[in-house]
Amino acid sequence: MRWRKLLVITPTLILIAALAVLFYPFYSDRQPPLIDVSLSSNSFSFKLNGHMRIVDLKAGVKEVTVRIESERGFKQVVFAGKGRKREIDKDLGFNIQFVPEGGYKLVVEAKDASIWKNSAQRELSFIIDHTPPDVTVSLKPRKPKQGGTLAVYVAVNEQALSDYSVIDPNVFRRSSLQLYRVKSEGEGYRYEAILGLSTEARVGKSSLFISFVDPAGNRSYKKADFEVRGSSFEIGVVNLPKGKLRLLTDRSLAEEDDLKLSRMRKMEGSREKLWSGRFIMPVRGPISSNFGKFRVYNNGLARSRHMGVDIVARAGTPVKAANSGVVLFANRLNIRGNAIIIDHGLGVRSHYYHLRKILVKQGDKVKKGQTIGLVGSTGRASGPHLHWGMEVDGIFVDPIEWTRYEF
Ligand SMILES: [Zn+2]
Repeated sequence: MRWRKLLVITPTLILIAALAVLFYPFYSDRQPPLIDVSLSSNSFSFKLNGHMRIVDLKAGVKEVTVRIESERGFKQVVFAGKGRKREIDKDLGFNIQFVPEGGYKLVVEAKDASIWKNSAQRELSFIIDHTPPDVTVSLKPRKPKQGGTLAVYVAVNEQALSDYSVIDPNVFRRSSLQLYRVKSEGEGYRYEAILGLSTEARVGKSSLFISFVDPAGNRSYKKADFEVRGSSFEIGVVNLPKGKLRLLTDRSLAEEDDLKLSRMRKMEGSREKLWSGRFIMPVRGPISSNFGKFRVYNNGLARSRHMGVDIVARAGTPVKAANSGVVLFANRLNIRGNAIIIDHGLGVRSHYYHLRKILVKQGDKVKKGQTIGLVGSTGRASGPHLHWGMEVDGIFVDPIEWTRYEF
């Protein structure tokens, strides 16, 4: 009798114990699965991209559903899986090309395999946007000239990034636009690029291309056409007095200047537009040498192109800042004499040379019309005058244009 009992009870107990061990994870697991989900962006157009990782180390993950839903009643299951896994690690990539635009939620739901069916849910908000940014490009002037300026104005209706642009390096000495974000009064976003055309810029029809991409990946592609006009530059002769001939022949004097200017050249100017309206003539008086004039000095001792305008005025006449900005450089140079360079932002700088006296110092903020120095004839000048230069993106351009156009 006892024998028999034992023979029945023992295997039963062993079986129960074995079952208890075997099924232990399924009834002891009171923890829901851990869900970790992320999206690669918060707005999408073609494909929703992300990653999810679901972990349940005890009973294992039994069921996973991923769906997209909106408050407007849209609901679409984009993934459903069954099985039993301790870990699910999966890249998400769902085509949403035909899902209407708007705000959505990505809902990830997971249940474990325990008898308690512990479940967890995670939600992430995102936007579906299929509309490319609305980009308008306008140019000023429509027919820029050799040695002139071309301003590019861009308006974009939403936050977008210009991921590339193309311009002709034979016209601009650069092959892409340097766009600056500028303040916009209305809605949307505004950008400007101020380009300088060298005196050798290629004449004829040209175009610039620009592309903007919004955070969802929608792209707008714009082309703007313009025509470069040829400029006829004068040729002239300058005779410097004997006492100043060294300024033409001694290379070391120019090198010394370059060294002083090089630090200023490397300095990044303001990314904000500091000027407003048209520039003013810094001094009133007749122009004795136009921009771009090719000049031969003292019977061919030296020749160079004139990269500004010379305005004749009596020594001591006040020199005014052509527009508002910050003084980048105020120092004595060999060739340029006492020189001031003002940064106006967006890569635009004005230069004032041959001053008798400098009345500002580096770092000073100046206002349009403020006196910054006095006319003189220091450096390579044959008589009292102001040399006024305008530099745009590292290229000297005709300053007179800046008094006629509002860039
Ligand atoms: Zn000059």
